Amino acid sequence: MNPPPMEIIIHDIPQEGLFIKASAAHDGWLRAVMQRVLSKAFTPSDTAELTLECHKVNEEIDLSGELKYSANQTCDRCLAPFGTQDVVEIRIHLSPLHSTQPMTNQDEGLDVGEIVTEDEEFSYYEGDRIDIGEILEEQLTLAQPMKNLCQEDCLGLCPTCGKNLSEGPCACAPTALGSPFSALKALAPKKRK
Ligand SMILES: [Zn+2]
Ligand SMILES: [Zn+2]
Repeated sequence: MNPPPMEIIIHDIPQEGLFIKASAAHDGWLRAVMQRVLSKAFTPSDTAELTLECHKVNEEIDLSGELKYSANQTCDRCLAPFGTQDVVEIRIHLSPLHSTQPMTNQDEGLDVGEIVTEDEEFSYYEGDRIDIGEILEEQLTLAQPMKNLCQEDCLGLCPTCGKNLSEGPCACAPTALGSPFSALKALAPKKRK
């Protein structure tokens, strides 16, 4: 069963702004967002706390706040479980889609940066409401690292015996080889970063 979405009705945003607080422990929609993005890494004991300010000027909406959360990830190299804590900063400017004039060739050069502050993301909303869960899901997804590593220089597992090399060298690996990625690097030197 899906929890009801977290929607803000544009018309209901008061002059002084709308302040939203939510936690995965109490708000099913936020827990659902965390689980959609992090799946099993967001365990029942993990927490997620959202604070969000929503301001409206005419029909332009500014969202700002942060999502603090914990997760139990698995290292992509050594497969060890490890706990993480992260904060996703949210700075989004939303314009109504309906009031946007159809783009002409002339308009294409228009820089949206002129009406949005530098550190703000620019987006649109459609209709009379915005779905906070949907926006959060996108922001959280974008904030995920390419690789989950227990530590930045995790040495991973020995490809031969499977020992976690961050805990020390194993008997079978000649230490001169260095990381288990040395062989790959030698094969494709141009693809190295
Ligand atoms: Zn690791
Ligand atoms: Zn080994």
